[in-house]
Amino acid sequence: MSLRLLRLSRVSNVVRRSYTTSRNHPMFIDIAVNLSDPQFQGIYHGKQGHESDFNAVLERAKEQKLTKILVTGTDLSETKESVKICNDFHCDYLELYCTGGIHPCSALAEYNAQTGGKQKATEAEGDYDINAIGSRIQDLLEVARSNPKTLLALGEFGLDYDRLHFSPEKIQKLFFEQQLKLFAESGLDLPLFLHSRAAHKDFCDMLYPYLKAGKFPRGGVVHSFTGTLDELQDHVKMGLYIGINGCSLKTKENLDVAKEIPLELLLLETDAPWCEIRPSHESHKLLQGHKLPYESKKKEKFVENSMIKGRCEPANIVLVAKVMAELKGVPLEELTKVVYENSLKFLNLEK
Ligand SMILES: [Zn+2]
Repeated sequence: MSLRLLRLSRVSNVVRRSYTTSRNHPMFIDIAVNLSDPQFQGIYHGKQGHESDFNAVLERAKEQKLTKILVTGTDLSETKESVKICNDFHCDYLELYCTGGIHPCSALAEYNAQTGGKQKATEAEGDYDINAIGSRIQDLLEVARSNPKTLLALGEFGLDYDRLHFSPEKIQKLFFEQQLKLFAESGLDLPLFLHSRAAHKDFCDMLYPYLKAGKFPRGGVVHSFTGTLDELQDHVKMGLYIGINGCSLKTKENLDVAKEIPLELLLLETDAPWCEIRPSHESHKLLQGHKLPYESKKKEKFVENSMIKGRCEPANIVLVAKVMAELKGVPLEELTKVVYENSLKFLNLEK
């Protein structure tokens, strides 16, 4: 038996045991959900569009056999809020966990919040106080230390040169560099939850030395991956997991790249409320009519228990899995089993 087959069969054995308890239905872990987003309270662009359906969203997640959701923390206050959402939620079949980090797009706002400054991205001077950045990150690490059972990954952090209008390159780099440094020194045994957009070279130049030096033994995931085949291969060589959602599967090129992700490094996510699979996406064809058993309404026409058109939610992970199974040419159940096991390993959870 090849090493790969051996590994796959071992994976299947472990997962099969837990499957029997859930009538052989594939189970899912969504590793990226922005549950603190106001859209899940029915609020769009600051206006109440419909009543909060937060509980209904999680109910549908449960019905679709999600057993765990990783809520994304993208700045200090959102990380605190994510911890609270997770700790307040109690359910026998669905567990909520979260990440804690400072997203590159939030870097300037976080700096302003820390220093009481009012710099706008267009007029940021580029002269930043490293100590202020360090204090912000230490506050974040304190949240992580106080919530070891809830906060399971460090991030979201990284670089995003597609959205410099939120944070200029220089401050993005400072926050990325300082988070890498202080996370590595923190002694926290957690994986990294990474974001890289249009910044591959800088991202790798800054991150890889830490990985090569063994500073992050739990590795990490490059979530919402949309890069090229070469970029994918760089990450694969470093043993990083690749997180795939609807945004990773928009174009023919995206699909050609996603197909090459080794199964043992694949993680699935929705990035809800963003990144749903749309009819205009190349991936939509691969769904072959596969859809969720819920009515979908425009937000203005919301009725109880309807999904909202254009708002992604964790239950949609079923569709991402379907597309990936088609791309990889493996049965949906087999793909979800392997990915489920990968997700447990990534989060350092036993079951
Ligand atoms: Zn992201």
